Amino acid sequence: MALIVQKYGGTSVANAERIRSLASRVGRFKKMGHQIVVVVSAMSGETNRLIGLAKEITLDPDPRELDVIVSTGEQVTIGMTCLALQELGLKAKSYTGSQVRILTNDSHGKARIIDIDGQNMQKDLDDGYVVVVAGFQGCDANGNITTLGRGGSDITGVALAAALKADECQIYTDVDGVYTTDPRVVPEARRLEKITFEEMLELASQGSKVLQTRSVEFAGKYKVKLRVLSSFTDEGEGTLITFEEDSKDENMEEPLISGIAFNRDEAKVTVLGVPDTPGIAYQILGPIADANIDVDMIIQNQGADDTTDFTFTVHKNEMDKALDIIRKQVQPNIHAREISGDDNIAKVSVVGVGMRSHVGIASQMFRTLSEEGINIQMISTSEIKVAVVIDEKYMELAVRVLHKAFELETA
Ligand code: ASP
Ligand code: MG
Repeated sequence: MALIVQKYGGTSVANAERIRSLASRVGRFKKMGHQIVVVVSAMSGETNRLIGLAKEITLDPDPRELDVIVSTGEQVTIGMTCLALQELGLKAKSYTGSQVRILTNDSHGKARIIDIDGQNMQKDLDDGYVVVVAGFQGCDANGNITTLGRGGSDITGVALAAALKADECQIYTDVDGVYTTDPRVVPEARRLEKITFEEMLELASQGSKVLQTRSVEFAGKYKVKLRVLSSFTDEGEGTLITFEEDSKDENMEEPLISGIAFNRDEAKVTVLGVPDTPGIAYQILGPIADANIDVDMIIQNQGADDTTDFTFTVHKNEMDKALDIIRKQVQPNIHAREISGDDNIAKVSVVGVGMRSHVGIASQMFRTLSEEGINIQMISTSEIKVAVVIDEKYMELAVRVLHKAFELETA
């Protein structure tokens, strides 16, 4: 007997039929003798609808009241799910976040979980109930309803699994696992049987939106075994997200590369010809950080004269703000020769823990891109990733040729 947390996303509870199908899956797991905690999102589209409703009253809703409104989406689906389970003759009990006592801080709309009281749920499980918990919500120390940020039901699933020391946290969604890259770009993309947390984080934060990034971090931190599965099919084992140590010995011949990630969300800011003096990076990036703008890649290049060139990337939506700060606040002190922005860029990364023990991945990547005549504008590397910035119009081509070059369709 195992204790399994199963999280179902919006498309998996989109209507009564989907909820019935969820219930029969839970029924099958119960029959095998497992204890099941179900975490559900709101029906797909519902959270957006609720936000829209609030905005019909005011464009700037009070965060506490907005949480009261948007948290109702999940309250509907826990009730519906329990009814469906009961129809199958199963004992089922629903819990809102505050009924569980998922204690969070008071940052409405992006609350962080502080503590979860697993006692009542454990008692119900031991009494044979399926426990159904509303995702995405909790309450603060004063009992105010909070929500965890968009896509936050994943976090609820992982956090409950950690609190209850579950054997596995299964994330049911509309894809049947994590792929070597987006199959819409590369039809030969392959489902990965397993992937490490670190690889998943790289792939998740780079736009393969299967799992919310924060939930992956959380699972890594609390050593929760995560599996991504489709709720639309009963076939396949999905993708298991493991710890590097665990995956190693079983698999002598580690693949070098696990996947190719890409993202079109970044823009590049370039500052040319600034004095090459200590503190220049701080002078440029300090005000950007003060304005709460996230910077991803940074490169600085010494020029022939006593100047240096500086390029960094930010989210597309923040490029104009960043340029404005550089032009108005920074330029009077640094006298750059030129300041410019470019949002027609894309970032493409090859990701794999196998890189730790192999050289030559980066050069193979660069050669592959050069053979297609794709110019690399920026490069950044970590132990398990090589990322490049290229012209946005070559992004899909780059992903396809890299997928082929690293033989990901066959590995
Ligand atoms: N219903 C929430 C949202 O749409 C939480 C979730 O789906 O995970 O963001
Ligand atoms: Mg969702």
